[in-house]
Amino acid sequence: MIYIHVPFCRSFCTYCDFYSEIPEADNAFTLYTDAVCMEIKERKADWDDELKTLYFGGGTPSVLPLSQLTRILLALEEAGHGGPYREFTMEVNPEDIVEKGLPYVQSLKALGVNRISIGIQSFDDGLLQWMNRRHNAERAVKAFNIVREAGIDNISIDLIFGLSNLTDEVWEDTVNKALALKPEHISCYQLTVEGDSVLAHRLENGEYEEASDEQCRFQYELLCRKMAEAGYQHYEISNFAIPGFEAVHNGGYWQRSPYVGLGPSAHSFSGRGRSWNSNDISGYTRTEEALSVEDEKVETLMLALRTARGIDEEFLRANCPAENVRRMIDSGALVKAGRRYRIPEDHFFVSDEIIRELI
Ligand code: SF4
Repeated sequence: MIYIHVPFCRSFCTYCDFYSEIPEADNAFTLYTDAVCMEIKERKADWDDELKTLYFGGGTPSVLPLSQLTRILLALEEAGHGGPYREFTMEVNPEDIVEKGLPYVQSLKALGVNRISIGIQSFDDGLLQWMNRRHNAERAVKAFNIVREAGIDNISIDLIFGLSNLTDEVWEDTVNKALALKPEHISCYQLTVEGDSVLAHRLENGEYEEASDEQCRFQYELLCRKMAEAGYQHYEISNFAIPGFEAVHNGGYWQRSPYVGLGPSAHSFSGRGRSWNSNDISGYTRTEEALSVEDEKVETLMLALRTARGIDEEFLRANCPAENVRRMIDSGALVKAGRRYRIPEDHFFVSDEIIRELI
């Protein structure tokens, strides 16, 4: 599993505090690509390709010129980690797709991309503006249609709910519009106010008030209902897929498969420890940290219980106090499925509390 972080955005969204820069210097893309290619060369022995997935995330990978993307793919090939990949995902911004047009997506496909994740977030123009997104609803639909026309048959859409200025009616309309496009996969994230985002400052200054728990819960349940009616499987707290289109790469994260993260601010997991790159376009360095037995236990539980697959019964019983497990089972917060236990969908919304209680 390879993750490549592309730390460029054309503008910054209100709610985001990911590491990213607006590429102002002419050579920013070249410097970045040089550094990633060098890292691939230096770390080529670090990883095996069991799942054979490649994921370009960001930032906004669709900001990166095709010439630089091609250089990175060649470096992977030379390092013995080239395609074809079982799943090759590229995150894209709708506005980039509309601006660059069909030939751009056709080129991505020719380079081996077989899954595209579009950051649509909302189909309400007022909210999109408030989020400081570059696109509007019309451009989002246009972008989706271009990706489809290019022959990409595995498209994911990202949506956000749980904003205090998102009414239930607008949310329902957004979900309906997303479903009307018939994507294979939909990721829906509840808004969280991130540390250094514009939104965090607005909250501090009293210019934004967080949505109530009831509002978030209502919107989440509405989403779950509509997705089930449309035939999507709710296979992870925030993710829905037409059966057979569950994300392979992200599925690897939830099962704690090792992965290599390349590029500034990317994280890696070796199976025993984690490492992360610093935030610097071309001069980033890597810090490593071993995981304690306790860390491993908590991570395994937290990641597995986010999924509909759940956790192995033996692991659960060996690592959580028996009375906690019994209490969760008795209250319906854990249900048995074969030799595994999982959080049922109607308890997904409070899964963090359930996991805390189990540990
Ligand atoms: S949400 Fe995506 S596009 Fe917006 S600032 Fe963050 S990384 Fe950039």
